[in-house]
Amino acid sequence: MSNALVYCSFDQGRDGVPAGAEEVLTLARKLAAARGVDLDWLVLGAKPAQVDAIAAKHGVAHVDHVDDAKLSGSQPDALVAAVQGYCAEHQPGFVLMTQTFDARLVAPRCAARLGAGVVMNAVDIEGKDSGVQVTATAYGGDTRVEYVVDGAAVIGVVADPLLPEAASEPSSTESRSISVDLSGTSERIRTVQEASIEGPRLEEAQVIVAGGRGLQESENFKMVEDLAEALGGMAGASRPIVDDGWTDSSHQVGLTGKITRPVLYLAAGISGASQHMVGCAAAKTLVAINTDADAAIFKYAQYGIVGDCLEVLPALTKAVKGG
Ligand SMILES: Cc1cc2nc3c(=O)[nH]c(=O)nc-3n(C[C@H](O)[C@H](O)[C@H](O)COP(=O)(O)OP(=O)(O)OC[C@H]3O[C@@H](n4cnc5c(N)ncnc54)[C@H](O)[C@@H]3O)c2cc1C
Repeated sequence: MSNALVYCSFDQGRDGVPAGAEEVLTLARKLAAARGVDLDWLVLGAKPAQVDAIAAKHGVAHVDHVDDAKLSGSQPDALVAAVQGYCAEHQPGFVLMTQTFDARLVAPRCAARLGAGVVMNAVDIEGKDSGVQVTATAYGGDTRVEYVVDGAAVIGVVADPLLPEAASEPSSTESRSISVDLSGTSERIRTVQEASIEGPRLEEAQVIVAGGRGLQESENFKMVEDLAEALGGMAGASRPIVDDGWTDSSHQVGLTGKITRPVLYLAAGISGASQHMVGCAAAKTLVAINTDADAAIFKYAQYGIVGDCLEVLPALTKAVKGG
């Protein structure tokens, strides 16, 4: 398998393009150039309007679109069959996916069907002989591990904030409609219950005010919500306070929560554990409020307030409201 390198995306949430797709495309483009192969983008299911523009910006040679009713929504069996059918025809050497929740189900199964290696949690990829060297996060994001995969590989890429979003040489991208026979595919995995998300999504928020255990008790999460509202943003949370039910899991930021990339991320009473920072380190500006001047979060923050968030949050809300 050596014709091209494929970035594969499928219907994810409201706009269909996974957050961080551009960072993964940047990585994919670098690898494709090193291997001297085309970078193609396989879109499974409805094709979001912005795909063609993003593809051209990142030097994608072909946008290959497979549309089939079976590819609407979260249907892993159909997605796996579509990737398998496409790869049988087009023989890409490497398939990269943004590591969304669905990709975690789909990528390893695709690799097994293609007889390819698989690495998840990738944050960097280099060409290596006939295969690739992949840097991946390990132990919940605390450390890095290097893998060398000989031959073809399916790689789940964490749209890590550390990945650059640099545009490649723009190209004229050809769009192709690809048909894959999914008539024999039926779903064996069913989603029984899914959190219904109404209104804006945390991943798309420009301003996030997030609270952690430093808020002391659940009632104080309201201070986070109040400042978020005053700033026209959304409320985020660290995992422990979600686990304790102070707010619901749609607000959780981090490795096992949402990967956000706001213009402003204000973290109140959050220590800065690596698993949390994965979800917010891509913020353009990070502000931290913490009583502990040595808290890890201050290593990431551009602005820090050493102080009690129970005093600082209401004061900021008042100031924002012009009070
Ligand atoms: C596999 C795995 C996945 C994980 N995924 C996630 C994830 O997705 N998201 C996530 O958040 N965590 C995740 N975690 C948990 C993570 O390791 C941390 O335990 C967690 O982020 C800590 O949350 P915290 O900062 O709110 O609490 P703490 O670590 O308890 O920190 C509280 C902070 O508040 C400060 N503070 C105390 N009082 C005040 C005050 N009055 N004013 C201001 N500051 C104050 C303290 O100095 C401290 O720094 C994961 C862990 C593992 C092992």
